[in-house]
Parts: sequence; structure tokens; C-alpha cells
Amino acid sequence: MSAAASPLELARAEIRSLAPYEHAAWEPSLERLHANELPWRAQADATHAGLNRYPEPQPRELVMRLAELYGVEPAAVLVSRGSDEGIDLLTRAFCRAGSDAVVVCPPTFGMYAVAARIQGATVIRVPLIAERGFALDVESVLARCTPQVKLVFLCSPNNPTGNLMAPEAILELTARLAGRALVVLDEAYIEFADAPSLAAQVAQQAFLVVLRTLSKAHGLAGARCGALIAAPEIVALLRKIIPPYALTQTTIETVCERLQPPHLAAARERVALIRSERAQLARALAGTAGVRRVWPSEANFVLAEFEDASAAFAQARAAGLLVRDVRAHPGLERALRITVGTPEQNRRLIQALQRVRAEAV
Ligand code: PMP
Repeated sequence: MSAAASPLELARAEIRSLAPYEHAAWEPSLERLHANELPWRAQADATHAGLNRYPEPQPRELVMRLAELYGVEPAAVLVSRGSDEGIDLLTRAFCRAGSDAVVVCPPTFGMYAVAARIQGATVIRVPLIAERGFALDVESVLARCTPQVKLVFLCSPNNPTGNLMAPEAILELTARLAGRALVVLDEAYIEFADAPSLAAQVAQQAFLVVLRTLSKAHGLAGARCGALIAAPEIVALLRKIIPPYALTQTTIETVCERLQPPHLAAARERVALIRSERAQLARALAGTAGVRRVWPSEANFVLAEFEDASAAFAQARAAGLLVRDVRAHPGLERALRITVGTPEQNRRLIQALQRVRAEAV
């Protein structure tokens, strides 16, 4: 196959030619007798616009605020229900069931492979290089990219390992794959890292898509809001398949409020606190008997290897704390992923893990 000049050439032909659902026109200056809504709001409805009304699809104010936050053009932003929805939309728009494929680099976030399987796409696994701190293996990814591969999912900082991928490696891979496949860079945890986001690069790299979310650093996991940042033609294509009223009015209003400068400043302070707690937690874990190693983390969690991960998991649980068992990932057979909590939770966790050892001797 010759190289595609536009990323749209990689998309499914039936999605490119799809006539999307025509949602009710958005004309806030007029009274709405066109959407079969009730004209009254319910008594306890505290929203600004009223929950009796369908929300604005791809709400303008929210798109503008997210574009400003991420330093990109509004036309490059698709607002979605978390980045999970971005992953799903890309897979459905670009992968033909039964013939196309995606590349994932394990150990990594499981949704990329799940979305591919739901769509009937093949999952090609190109492991990160464990001996090099779970670095991206650019040459191996390129070697495995057959013409069927439409999406290459990268996660930086990576979940569950916590490391950042070298931006030069990501951009090199994107440049060498341009015209053949999209690189989807999931930056869910980038606010906790020492490196800048690559979101603004989409203006120069039409085959790069960046996923951002408000679920982590902004503390809005329950609101379900993320942003897919890509070339405007990709955003326009995905707008055709995202449900017309994907985001609820409650979420739209909450998130717009949270993106005001004082709230953004508070979010930055919380990120700084998590980063300092992360350093302390990592140090305390490294000094705990029974902990074999703690990987460096640029995210809001720490990956640690234990002599007896089952015992550590059970002891955390007995102290009322759930950590993530990631032992099913190849190469992480003795590892647990621990989200950085409040200072009190982190202390309680360390005390619980120290008990594992005390009880064993
Ligand atoms: N990407 C990564 C790497 C994640 O760890 C998560 C959440 N666990 C997500 C995406 C999904 O986040 P959300 O849908 O809440 O934006």
C-alpha cells in the first residue's frame, strides 16, 4: 500500500462516507420546541441549563477551555467520556473488523487491547524493553507494523510501570510511521511527570493523536471527561461516531467551572503534593523489608516488586487499603501497583507492609 497523504485515508471507508445522526440544532437564543424535551425542569435541578434539555454536543465553551489548557486549536479537540472513549472511537473508526490490527507495548494499559478485541481487530504485542526501564522499542514496533496495523498505542507515563517514554523516540516513530499508521499517545498521567506534553505536536504531525484526561491530575474521574487531540480532519471524523449527547449537562457545567484559573491553580498544588508524597512513598517502600525493587515513577502511582506479593496485597487489604495486583502482566510476576494516596494512607500502607515482614520472622 502506498503511503497515505491524509490520516483519513487510513480510516474505514464506511465511516468516512457515513452520514451522521442529525442532532437537534443548537440555537440557545431560541425557545426549544424541536427536541421533544419537557419544557419544565425538575424541582431539585440545580444545573445552569436545566437537565430537562439535551446538552450541547461538543460544548463550545468546554472545547475552548480544553484547547487553551492543552495549547492547541479548538478544531484539534474532541471532548469525550474520559480517554477510554477516545480509545474506543479511534479503534472503531480506523480498524476494519476481521482484517486490521493495532500495536500495543506491554506491560501497558489494558483498554487498548480490549477495545481492539471488541472491534474484531488483531492485537500485536511489542514489549517495552524491561532492561532499559521499560523503554519504547522503536525498531521492533516498526518491524511489526504490517499494512494491516492502523493504530500504535503508546502510553507515557506508562501504566502500570510509571516511566516516561523518551519524546524523541515517540516523535521518531510517528515520523517513520506517517502515512502508514496513527501513533496514539496516551498522556493520562503527564501532569505528574517532569516532561511537557506532546499535545501541541499534533499541529505538525497529522499522524499523531494525543489523549488527555481530567480523571487524574484534575481529580474528576467521576465526571468522565477527556480530550482527544488530533488533526482537525480526525476530530471531524470521530465527531460522526461519538454519540451526539455524550457528555451530560452536569459534567459540562462541572468541568467548565473546574477549568477556571483558581481551580487550575488548586489542581497544580495537588499535583505537587502527590509528587512529593510519591517520592516519600517510593523511599519508604525501598526501605521496607520484603520489597525487592521500586521502579522510578513519573505518574501518581508506584510499581514495586515484592518477595511475596500475595502477602503484601493481603496485608494492605487488612489495613483497609486496596492496591492493584498487576502480576498477570508478563515480566511483573511479583509486582503491585500502588496509587499515591493521602499522607495518612501512605503511612498506613507502609506500616501494614512492614507488618508482613515482622510476622514472617
Ligand atoms: N489511559 C490510561 C493510561 C489509564 O491508566 C486510564 C485510567 N486507568 C485511562 C486512560 C482512562 O482514563 P479515563 O477514561 O478516566 O480518562
